[in-house]
Formats: sequence, structure tokens, C-alpha cells
Amino acid sequence: MGSWLLDPFGFSPRLVLEAARMGYRVLVAVNNPITRFLLEASARPPSEADFKAALADLAVIKKGDERLSVHLQSLYLTTCEKCGQQIQAEAFLWRKGEDVPYARIYTCPHCGDSGEHAAAHDDIERAKRIASTDSLHRSRAFERVAALDDDDRIYAEEAIQFYLPRPLYFLTTIINRLDRLNLTPDRRRAMNALILVACDMGNTLWGYPSERPRPKQLIIPSQFRESNLWTQLERGIGLWTQTASSVACEAWPQKIPETGGICIYEGRLKDLAHEAKKEIPIRAVIGSVPRPNQAFWTLSALWAGWLWGRDAVEPFKIALRRRRYDWAWNATALNAAFAHLFDLLPLDTPFFGLLPESEPPFLTSVLTAASAAGFDLQSVALRTEHDPLQLVWRRGEHLQREINDANIDDVRAAMVQHLAERGEPASYMHVHAAGLISLVETHSLKKKNQEFDEALRDTQALMQKALEGDSRFLHYSTGESIDTGVWGLREDAALSQNEIHDSLSDRVEINVVTFLQKNPNCIFLEIEDELYPHFPGLLTPSKAMIYSVLNSYAERDGGAWKLRLEDFAAVRRSELNTMAGTIENIGSRLGYSTRKQNKNYLWQEEDQTQYVFYILASALVGRAIAESPLQPEQTIIVIPGGRAALATYKAQRDPALAARLKKYRVVKYRLLRALLERPTLTRESFEQQISSDPIEKPKAQIVMF
Ligand SMILES: [Zn+2]
Repeated sequence: MGSWLLDPFGFSPRLVLEAARMGYRVLVAVNNPITRFLLEASARPPSEADFKAALADLAVIKKGDERLSVHLQSLYLTTCEKCGQQIQAEAFLWRKGEDVPYARIYTCPHCGDSGEHAAAHDDIERAKRIASTDSLHRSRAFERVAALDDDDRIYAEEAIQFYLPRPLYFLTTIINRLDRLNLTPDRRRAMNALILVACDMGNTLWGYPSERPRPKQLIIPSQFRESNLWTQLERGIGLWTQTASSVACEAWPQKIPETGGICIYEGRLKDLAHEAKKEIPIRAVIGSVPRPNQAFWTLSALWAGWLWGRDAVEPFKIALRRRRYDWAWNATALNAAFAHLFDLLPLDTPFFGLLPESEPPFLTSVLTAASAAGFDLQSVALRTEHDPLQLVWRRGEHLQREINDANIDDVRAAMVQHLAERGEPASYMHVHAAGLISLVETHSLKKKNQEFDEALRDTQALMQKALEGDSRFLHYSTGESIDTGVWGLREDAALSQNEIHDSLSDRVEINVVTFLQKNPNCIFLEIEDELYPHFPGLLTPSKAMIYSVLNSYAERDGGAWKLRLEDFAAVRRSELNTMAGTIENIGSRLGYSTRKQNKNYLWQEEDQTQYVFYILASALVGRAIAESPLQPEQTIIVIPGGRAALATYKAQRDPALAARLKKYRVVKYRLLRALLERPTLTRESFEQQISSDPIEKPKAQIVMF
């Protein structure tokens, strides 16, 4: 209770809030005023009533002789193509470099017409009219960020180029009136939170149609979307009021209660390391590790100036000037942060880090930076390349580490070992992570006195060479580059017997089903808790995989999962026996005698085996293939109909399995039952029937309406 945690980056309000709610005191270092505001506002969110009141207060201010809300909404008026009414556009669409929009998006409240339409004459005229007064608003907007004689003025001007005249006019009109509004502190915070949503949506970085989750670079897409900012203010209320209950939140060095809370240190980690070392016993470090995000850092400086004036930007203005946002810069900056942490923390202090958008160069950057600063990597957990990646380090010894040259054989061995343990192909991200972990262990990510950009380049080249120059690896991909598709091992990769494993998806299936047998009515979280210790690190199964198994075997009642009646072990066993009898019956009608050998049922004629049946209650088709004593053409794998979708899912994610499975015939129980019922059955008609029962359902038709 009341133990101190440190978040050195301040980028994960959610993680910090969770820890504070669990009773930790979390010291958060932030030097970006926007990040700080977001953290505070998440810790103590204004009430929905405050948000609504703030927007209502703003709406009723007079602009000339109309209300401000009417005036601001009139900026987005457009004429409905169908009924001719004046309505609000949701957005205008622009092409980079043009000075009027080419299209608009709306949903007409009068006639229901909706979608994208070419810009009309009045849309173009309106855009031109607003642009005609632009220079005045633009110069006011950057004066809030930097003074006329400021050396950084040019950078502020550059950043403001990412706002079109209309959103800039919209934002400055509101911001200029904000100070005269006399809002209560809570309403003012609410208004600031809404304005930030509009600032974020009001720039020209949002491509159309949107192809990336969030723009990170200051690059204007060739087509972009200009959102209706009044609508965005209203949308902001919904975004902000989703946050849960508030937690104690104070500015350093104010005290926070032992029951948990957040203490914000506004400043640099370097200075905090000095101040906090004496006073606060940090038990662990948590935090989401920042990645290069030029758009957010540069625009943060702009927004801070707009909301709080020049003084707020001053300590942070370097963000406006900075132009380098590559991985080497990222690694250098992270290394500096890790070095300050190293000084601040006692030996062995754990550091729990999160990479929200993991990608191979980001992981290389973070691991190289941490390792060079004396942190020892304990674990890396990765579910899929689309999930956050979890890292645990411990603050290491002060000793000088022995630094070794990277050894390509070690890297290859680590990659092979991961793929062998997985028993199925993996994304490049997984293979890359396995290789990196081996380099961390041998202290070979960065040579002494080597620059980070060179170290990162060397590592990437090594990864590429390791995969491309070794015939044990097989790349399943339609693309050229190593990070597309999946990587697997060749079947003849010369693994020893104890290196050969059932595939990860097969093992997950076995675990989930065993757990459900013993624990009916469990919820998804309990299933995950059960699975994770069995599948640690890079083997962490995806949610999609767990759900595929659950949907095959179980039913959900509310939040609770339980096995379907037909999938209880005893029921399945008796069905397996019935199926064995069915196979024997059909065989004798076709003139074969049936003999059981291990799990296989062989149809024989004059001591020659003609067919072998492998009956599964599960979707472990990989195992069935491995254990069949005959050629693929003679082997028939029999599965329950309820397993077909799961078997298909496995084959879709594992191109090696899909290729092997193609040579085999997989039939469902019900086909054999139906064959038994047939009054006439010949060897020819049998052969024909079992070849026409594909496990993959035909592709769903594309719905055209
Ligand atoms: Zn209409």
C-alpha cells in the first residue's frame, strides 16, 4: 500500500491511472504541457455537466449580432444536393496544395441524403471568403506561441502551416474569447479538453480515405479531410466523459495520500533524478516508452501556446525546432532517459515498459538504449504485431559490462529455437524479437563508443542476413521485404526430436479445452490467466486464437463460457467409438477388413492397407498428419463438423499447415454417418464422396447492397 512507482515518460495516462487506483503512488515526469494536461484531465475528469455548461457558455457569446455557435457552425454550411436545404457539412475534402476543397461529406437531416459529393459553388466561395482574412488570424495565432522577435518564430509559423484558414479561424476565434468568458476552473478545464480535440482534428494531417491510425509525421497527405470542428467539440464531450472515477493528483512536491494517487513532476527527468533520489523510494518503474512522433511533439508546442500563452511553451520550445525524429535519435534520447533512471534507482529495481505500437525498429531502438544504460532485460511478451509489447528490465550492476561482437550463429540459433518452440510460422516481429533477445543476452547490440545510428543499422543488417542467408528459414510472403508475411522453418530443418513441438495453436486448443473441462462457467479473463503461464514471452497466444477455440468448443452464457454438451469428454469418447464402428461397417460393406493400429483405423484387403482413418475429436490436424502411417492420398482425417471452422482458422494462419493439409482428405463425422445410411455404396462412389467434403466453406458471396 502506498509504494512509489515512477513513470519517467508520462505517456500512458491509462497505465498510471490503473496503478493509482490499485493503491500505488505514481510519480510521473512530464515536460510536455499537453501530456501533462491530458494526464491531469484523465485523473480528475470534469463532469459531463461541466463539459456541457462550458460549451453552452461559449455558444451564447455574441459575435456581431449572432451567437458564436451560430457563427462558427455557419462556417461549415453547405447545400444538400438532393433537397436544396442549407445543412452542416461533416467534413470538406482537400487535395494537397489546392486552395479550395474538392468535395464535402454530409448527412442531410431533412431528406437523409448522405455521403461524399463534389464541392458546390457556394462551398468554394465560402472557403475563399474565409481565406481572404487569413493572414491576420494566422499572425495572431503564432504570436500566442512565439514573440515577434523570437528566433523560434519561424518554426511556429511552419507548424501553423498545418492548419487551413477555416480551422485556424475557428480555433483562434474561440481561444481569443476564452479569457473573457470567466469560466469556473472546472469548466475552463473542460473547455480546454474540448479545444484540444478540435486542435487535433483540425490540422491537415488526416488523410482521406484514412489509411493510418494516427499521423505521426508532419506530412500532408495528397488528399486530406477537414473536419467540422463544431461537431468535433460536441464529439469531445463523449470522448472525455468515458473516463472512470477520479484519483488524487497533485503537482510535485505536494504530498499525495498513501492510499494512492498521481504526483506530477513537470520538468526533465535529469532534474527529477536529483530531487527525488533522496526523498522518494522508487519501488518500480512503469510506463509506455515514447516513439518518434514529430506531429504530436511539434503541434503540442503550438497547442500549449494557444491554450496557455507563450510562457507555457517556453521550456518546451525545443520541440518546435527539432527536425530529427528517426530511430537513431529515438535511441539516443531513450538512452539518456535510461541513464538518468539508472542513477536514480536502486540495484534490481524492476522496470515494466510498454510499447503501444510495436514495430521491429522501435524494439531495436528501445532494447539497445536500455541495454547500453545498464538495464538487464528480464522478459519480452508479444501477442501479435498489432498488440502492445511488454518488457521487463531490472536495473543492473554498476560493473562495466563485457561487450561482445554480434555473432550471426547465435542470432540464427535463437530464431530457429523460437520457431521450433512455436511449431508454426511467426510474424517477422516475433523472429526479430527472438534475435534481439539473443543479442541483449550476449551484450552485442552496441559496441563501446559506437553511435546509435550505426549500431541500429548493424543490427538490422544482421537480422536480414541471418534470415536470408540460411536455408532453414522459409519466408511465406507475397512481398519482397523481410518484414512482410510470416517466417517458418523448412520441414527438413534438422531439428532434434525434442525440438519438435505441436503447433502453438494446437497446444492452445488443448489447454483451453482441458481448462474448460475442469472449470465450467469461467470468464475469458480466467482463461487468459490460465494460458499465459503456459505460453510466456513470444509465445503469448492472440485473442483471436483463444476465441477461435472457444467458439469451436464452447457456448457463452452472458460472460461465462462452458463446453457444449457434445464436447464433454465422456460424450466425445463414446462418439469416437461410434465413429470407429461406422468406419468398420462401411469398410466391410466395401469388402475391407478394419484393423486398429495405435490411433489409426486401417482398411485392408489381402494384407494390403488401402486406406487409413484418423479420427479426431479435436482440430489437431497437424498431429493427425504426423501420426499417419500411410501416404497422404490414402489417409482420411475425420473431424467433428464443429471443428471445421477451427481447422480452417489454423490453416489460414499457418501456410505450412495449409500446404500439408492440401494433400490430405479431411471429412466430417456426418459424412461417414450419411454414407453408412446409403443403400448402395461402391468403392468408386465412396472415393468420390470423401473427396467432395472440403473443410473450408465456400467463400461467402460479396454483398453488393
Ligand atoms: Zn437534403
